[in-house]
Amino acid sequence: MADSEFAFELRVCAWAERHWHPDGERPCIVARQLGTKRRRWDTVVVEVDPEALEARANFGPERLNSDLLHVVRNAPADWAFYRDALPHPGYPWRYVREAIHEAADRDIVETRRNGNKIELKRKWPYPDWVRRIVAIENKPDLDASAADALADQLQRDVALGLADEVWLATESSDERGAERALFAEMPVEAGVLTFADGEASVAWHPRSLAPASVGTRITERPSDSEFDNSPASFEYVDADWKAQKRLEIAERAYERGWRSYLDTMRPDCRHFAVRRGEHGYVPYCAAKEREQTAAECSGSCPDYEPEPPTWRQGEWPIEGGPGAAIRRVMDDRRRRQRE
Ligand code: SF4
Repeated sequence: MADSEFAFELRVCAWAERHWHPDGERPCIVARQLGTKRRRWDTVVVEVDPEALEARANFGPERLNSDLLHVVRNAPADWAFYRDALPHPGYPWRYVREAIHEAADRDIVETRRNGNKIELKRKWPYPDWVRRIVAIENKPDLDASAADALADQLQRDVALGLADEVWLATESSDERGAERALFAEMPVEAGVLTFADGEASVAWHPRSLAPASVGTRITERPSDSEFDNSPASFEYVDADWKAQKRLEIAERAYERGWRSYLDTMRPDCRHFAVRRGEHGYVPYCAAKEREQTAAECSGSCPDYEPEPPTWRQGEWPIEGGPGAAIRRVMDDRRRRQRE
């Protein structure tokens, strides 16, 4: 089974892509390592409306950032001066103009000049494709100190309510009593998924959070020490900010999926391979004879050896060599996940 958090994370992503949701199938897009500036989730499951997702494809495979979202979501059905058509963004109009030009370059809105005024109109309405966003925190080896840290993070996630649901995913241990004690430390709103031999089961069902309401960001908490009497401090986070962030996270998930680890690893190394895991392919290092972590698999890896040029020149059985072929396969799967 998985021998690193990274390998476990990929298994959770692969499992979620095939089997989400534990209570019954729900179409979704799975991504990893996404969130906000302050908090990054290990696995993000974006539950989608399939028809609206298809309509989202009109806007291309790349994400729409907040500036582009402002343009495409508010672009009018008929030609209009952009300042009349778009709500004031809360930042200078020149950035809106830049975003309009970028949107026109990407062919996702139409623009024209009317004298010295820029007019725009939409090509398609931006669809409401995101149904729910679920955050999963992965910890294969849950021990007491990991449980402490995770409980703290999950409490913050629950208080903020940016996701609709939060889960902890862990590998099932043989010591069920100790495991249950650690699960009991988690906030009751967080679900717990346990993996054994690649199959997941629900140890605790989550409660739905309230992403459409005001959230609470815990900015400071007292330590558990008996000498620390300081109060917790927090700030409110308004619902509009949350709605905007959720869409930005979903857009990033749409672009990246969970196979983007290849972008930072070295599939051009002759030892790089992929193996079939329980629910999908995972990277494997032939030199280390195990699954390598993303951090290990870099140009500074002592075992790194570039693919022989003949592999890439088409003499190897796969066109462009195995590194390029693996990347093609992964890109293809990433694309198919969006379809
Ligand atoms: S030898 Fe190093 S760079 Fe090559 S596949 Fe293995 S971990 Fe990655």
